[in-house]
Amino acid sequence: MGARAGSVVAFRTGSNRTRDVVAYRIDARDSIIGVNDAWDAFARANNAPELAGTAVGLSVLDCITGVELGVLWRDLLARARTGVVLSLPYRCDSPGIRRYLELTITPHADGQLAFESVTRVAEARPPESLLAAPTVEGAAILTCGWCRRIWASEWLEVEEAVIRLSLLESDLPPINHGLCPECDRRVRAAAGL
Ligand SMILES: [Zn+2]
Repeated sequence: MGARAGSVVAFRTGSNRTRDVVAYRIDARDSIIGVNDAWDAFARANNAPELAGTAVGLSVLDCITGVELGVLWRDLLARARTGVVLSLPYRCDSPGIRRYLELTITPHADGQLAFESVTRVAEARPPESLLAAPTVEGAAILTCGWCRRIWASEWLEVEEAVIRLSLLESDLPPINHGLCPECDRRVRAAAGL
């Protein structure tokens, strides 16, 4: 572990490519056994400050909300432990940044898995506060945990969804994490599941 990386600053430079890597590792029982400095910065920048500085010892599956996402993650972990390196694009937007990332899961000895998440593209946009809404199981507003689209009779980018759902900036509801069918299919295909 080196000095604290300036990853949040790098995300905001407007550069289309950053070299920030959020890295963590789990043991055979899915417990997080190490995170790098960028993890903490990423957690704070993504509305999950509770995961900054306290991740070691948690099950990685406890960091994932939503039943369907949990099922997909369990399948991905099992697939990687067969000895396959998985490389999976995903979105992890914050209110003011559309962020396109790639997650690589690499198997190691004794059932350990190493995760590296690299930001490929970060685009600034007018802030969408809905993405900072608290996550609550059972909440009516559903976001896909993989592509961050919002369910509004169909899966829409957040900018369109807040209009379709007539959501007011002053009265944003909590959101729940789900998984859109396109992501479920695409991620499973990419993982060879
Ligand atoms: Zn999706």
